[in-house]
Amino acid sequence: MEPAKSFLDLGLHEWLIKQCEIVGLKKPTPVQEQCIPAILAGRDCIGCAKTGSGKTAAFSLPILQKLSEDPYGIFAVVLTPTRELAHQIHEQFRALGKPLGLRLSLIIGGMSLLDQGAELSHKPHVIIATPGRLADHIRSNTSFNMKKAKFLVMDEADRLLVSSFSADLGLILGILPEKRQTLMFSATMSETLEQVKSSAMSDPFIFRIESRIATVDELDQRYVLTPAAVKDAYLVNILQDFLEKHDRSLIMVFVKTCKLCQILTLALQDLGFNCNGLHSMMKQKERLAALARFKSHSIKILISTDVGSRGLDIPKVDLVVNHNVPTVSKDYIHRVGRTARANKPGLAISLVTQFDVRLVHAIEDLMGVKVAEYPFDEELVQASLNEVELAVRQAGIKLDEEDFDERRLINKRKDAILREWEAGEEEKPTQTLGNSSKTKRNKQLKR
Ligand code: AMP
Repeated sequence: MEPAKSFLDLGLHEWLIKQCEIVGLKKPTPVQEQCIPAILAGRDCIGCAKTGSGKTAAFSLPILQKLSEDPYGIFAVVLTPTRELAHQIHEQFRALGKPLGLRLSLIIGGMSLLDQGAELSHKPHVIIATPGRLADHIRSNTSFNMKKAKFLVMDEADRLLVSSFSADLGLILGILPEKRQTLMFSATMSETLEQVKSSAMSDPFIFRIESRIATVDELDQRYVLTPAAVKDAYLVNILQDFLEKHDRSLIMVFVKTCKLCQILTLALQDLGFNCNGLHSMMKQKERLAALARFKSHSIKILISTDVGSRGLDIPKVDLVVNHNVPTVSKDYIHRVGRTARANKPGLAISLVTQFDVRLVHAIEDLMGVKVAEYPFDEELVQASLNEVELAVRQAGIKLDEEDFDERRLINKRKDAILREWEAGEEEKPTQTLGNSSKTKRNKQLKR
């Protein structure tokens, strides 16, 4: 067997290796070992690896090295589907690129368009963005361009290549130079990714984990059959039972909609559970605070829509509960991928009604495993039925009183108005930055 490689063997510079050590990356993970030399050699790259495998450093390290050799802005554009992932990537770039005078720009929703516009006109070296917000800037701001970008990274690429992103993505790709390196990373290799590989990339280097799908052996996958009407009581009892047996554990519960996420969070809090919600109708600040509380164990349960199913760096989730079975099987893989990370055991329980059996079979086919029944005492559920039902009903009423649906509409309207207004602001002549000379740029980016 070949001896394990070090970061030095991969062709990384000393300063970057030192920085890896400082942030706790001692030796490369497989995705890093394979992809970093290929990216440094100038190749396009498709990396398929499960979440938590070190994908972010696999692309940020070679980008930082290339940037330090020829520093200018805008050098790299990183696209990712959710704001939380963008924050995470931003953090890693910031930590690994600390010795450089690195200018990073986080272009995501929920933050001021004007401030972001100003940042973009100062030519950040690396932009980390969600497609919608970056496309908004392209539509409204003529004073920045990405004509010289060397790298385009698409993180969670299979999710970016779905139709809801296609208009924004098309706009972004349209203003990037054709001659660039494209790096795509994803936990699953979808058909779309296969198509992109053959049509839009030049001889890409492909890293693919050997297993049939990117989930782990340590994951115990179970189902609990429940009548649809009493699903919440089953959920409550599963959580209670698990926490009694494993009191220091962290649990993620995945639900279908923002509204249900909010209702279940309120109801569980009312029933005495230490939990928070995570969904896209929460303010960005609240979303980050909920994640931080969960990561630091100050709450035990995070109730989330699929916004929390991908790529989030939460080291140890012991149990994932699927309140609904996802209709897209790959979403299931991402959800359960939140547990059993870093070779630790994990449990995933799906609440299955009679209408979901077909979906479970699709998941079993995709995963190549049988999902077994989770042994569970139904009498416990009977005893708590009324209490749970009441808590859920009251949470629903509270939400109606807060006009949750109305707020959704207002948020949408506000967003549209803000965009138009800020687009108007941008039409005023803005001061354009002169092209700074390379020496000046080198000074700003000194190690
Ligand atoms: P990612 O797959 O990029 O979300 O990374 C998941 C976690 O693994 C992050 O907390 C990284 O800091 C960590 N990580 C990445 N590369 C390494 C490495 N070579 N050694 C140890 N931890 C790593």
